[in-house]
Amino acid sequence: MTAMVIDGKAIAAELRKEVAKGVEQLVATGTIPPGLATVLVGVNPASQTYVRMKRKACAEVGIESFGYELPVDTSQEDIEKVVKELNADPKVHGILVQLPLPAGLDEEAVLKAISIEKDVDGFHPLNIGRLAQKGREPLFVPCTPAGCIVLLKKAGAQLEGARAVVVGRSNIVGMPAALLLVKENATVTICHSRTRDLPSVCREADVLIAAIGRPEMIRGDWIKPGAYVIDVGVNRVDDPSRKRGYRLVGDVAFEEAVEVAGAITPVPGGVGPMTIAGLLRNTLHSAQRTVA
Ligand code: NDP
Repeated sequence: MTAMVIDGKAIAAELRKEVAKGVEQLVATGTIPPGLATVLVGVNPASQTYVRMKRKACAEVGIESFGYELPVDTSQEDIEKVVKELNADPKVHGILVQLPLPAGLDEEAVLKAISIEKDVDGFHPLNIGRLAQKGREPLFVPCTPAGCIVLLKKAGAQLEGARAVVVGRSNIVGMPAALLLVKENATVTICHSRTRDLPSVCREADVLIAAIGRPEMIRGDWIKPGAYVIDVGVNRVDDPSRKRGYRLVGDVAFEEAVEVAGAITPVPGGVGPMTIAGLLRNTLHSAQRTVA
């Protein structure tokens, strides 16, 4: 069997188009455009790139972005002060504090300072708490896990009643992905570094989400024939044949898995593009909520 390869790039492009249309409709009613504030502390090159990509994506769909770049030695008090000012700014509908923060800053306290109405990353403890509770709905859901669910649905996966396995339990990917699958009525197993006999747990999965950060760890013979496989991992491996000296691979051994799975996301071009598209959608929803 050769799996259907889920085209995250195309699905994200579709989502971005819908966001652009939504922004246009909103602005046509005479209100200000949606606004996203990005807060970057320090000079982590990867974080700088992510923030740049997010601001560029905003511009492409008509969302205004406001960049705040704070020095690496910013105090806890000062970063929370910036967040509180942004909470009160009516031009700002979403606040994104780029993680990780420099060592010594209390990440949870910073995330908690963001108004839940502007928490477009969905990491505020209240939004995460609501995600975990039956009958409660968060105002925003974290973008990468939300993207995984969109890709599964677009690929035709039946989530209700499915056996789902999530490998990884991080706050930003694994755990919220598992909570979202529970909301979709899947039966969910969460695996991590202490899980015993991971291959046999994975083999039970109709839906497998890998969010580990280990290149090609999940092998083809860990996958149930016909399963839906979502590979969140982004790992650099040396590749002297490439000009830049490396290539990106996921947490799943794609060439093996594609022979067994029913559908699978590639890396790159699978989950990655969905993250920024989700952020744009969340910012639009926040702006729409202010005029509703
Ligand atoms: P973390 O390092 O925060 O979490 C990794 C998880 O994998 C942990 O729960 C850890 O277990 C588990 N794990 C590690 N080793 C093993 C092992 N040998 N067996 C089983 N489980 C293991 O990573 P993130 O969740 O932040 O990211 C995961 C991957 O997703 C990374 O490659 C990252 O680059 C990528 N990513 C991609 C995004 C995108 O495409 N937009 C966005 C965010 C992340 P334990 O809890 O026990 O330590």
